[in-house]
Amino acid sequence: MEITTHSPQDSQALAQKILDHEPNIVAFNGELGAGKTTLIQGIGKLLNIDRMTSPTFTIIKQYSLRTNNYELKTISHIDLYRLSSKEEALDLGLEELWADKGNLVLIEWPEIIDDILPPHLEVKIEVAGPDKRKITITQL
Ligand code: ADP
Ligand code: MG
Repeated sequence: MEITTHSPQDSQALAQKILDHEPNIVAFNGELGAGKTTLIQGIGKLLNIDRMTSPTFTIIKQYSLRTNNYELKTISHIDLYRLSSKEEALDLGLEELWADKGNLVLIEWPEIIDDILPPHLEVKIEVAGPDKRKITITQL
């Protein structure tokens, strides 16, 4: 599925389409400032989390859910931008995070773990203008 958005709010409205897939893992591809965190905040809002901030410095942020969307209990918001190897990423315990089916794992900068990522939903964001983004959602 491919959609063009014209504002951050527009992109956040796509969050429901992502949740409709009932994903366990979502990988967000796109350059710095593409809108990965913005879209993830849209997912958070739908699940009643008001404040999701970028985990660039903390790498993983964990949230508990009180909603009842397809048995989800927690969210792991992960940003691998600052890591330099797959081993470093695995040391974070990623495999345990995504083995938990009640945990929704949202990953920014997933390229470094491409070859160990289980089946997942890929969200690719391309910058097409100052406020314009081309967003492609693919089940991989
Ligand atoms: P990333 O996490 O990919 O680095 P962010 O979500 O932090 O990106 O930042 C995206 C920036 O682009 C924000 O400043 C946001 O306001 C802006 N923006 C402009 N247009 C859009 C759009 N259509 N979708 C998402 N973000 C947009
Ligand atoms: Mg980000």
